[in-house]
Amino acid sequence: MVDKNTVVVATGNAHKVVEIEAILSRVLPDVRFVALGELGDFPDPVEDGEDFAANALIKARAAQEQTGCYLAVADDSGLCVDALDGAPGIYSARWAGEHGNDEANNEKLLAELTDVADADRGAHFHSSVVFVRGDEVLVGNGDCPGTIGRVPRGNNGFGYDPLFWPDETPSRTMAELALDEKNRISHRFHALEDLASQLA
Ligand code: IMP
Repeated sequence: MVDKNTVVVATGNAHKVVEIEAILSRVLPDVRFVALGELGDFPDPVEDGEDFAANALIKARAAQEQTGCYLAVADDSGLCVDALDGAPGIYSARWAGEHGNDEANNEKLLAELTDVADADRGAHFHSSVVFVRGDEVLVGNGDCPGTIGRVPRGNNGFGYDPLFWPDETPSRTMAELALDEKNRISHRFHALEDLASQLA
């Protein structure tokens, strides 16, 4: 049976479910948000899209099919470095080889930028959030601009946070921000706000 009042959130990250629900429940007050893992143990789809939005759509469609829910939401995000022509981009999680090895990814980032001057170390995090309602597809996009440092700093967050200095917090890296501070400036926050404005 197709469930029309549940939004399945296609992520294994509990923080993301909270973040997504906090913003989207303002414009979707009558639905409940449920993490995909709460509805069953489903295999991850192959994310072979050409950009962030395509990969988020693959995850949202898979969640719809796997659960029978009419509504699904998924995000895909990553780091885009100017001096590397936008790399690692959609390959952010597995840039150094093994999926999700943050330490190796950060070492690779430092190595690739060794000879790049401070003024040329601009980058941004990007997030695309895709909401599917039956066959309809809505896409929210958001960025968080900043600069890549030379030494990791901070213990919060994940991924490239210790090397990323957001423009909005010039004296602290992303990994030195409290979770709620990060959530107010992050690429995911901006993408969710963009999506919420389309749902309102
Ligand atoms: P995901 O799509 O959110 O799973 O992110 C894919 C990869 O992009 C992560 O494994 C990280 O390497 C990187 N990334 C995405 N968002 C962030 C962030 O907020 N901070 C640091 N790294 C991130």
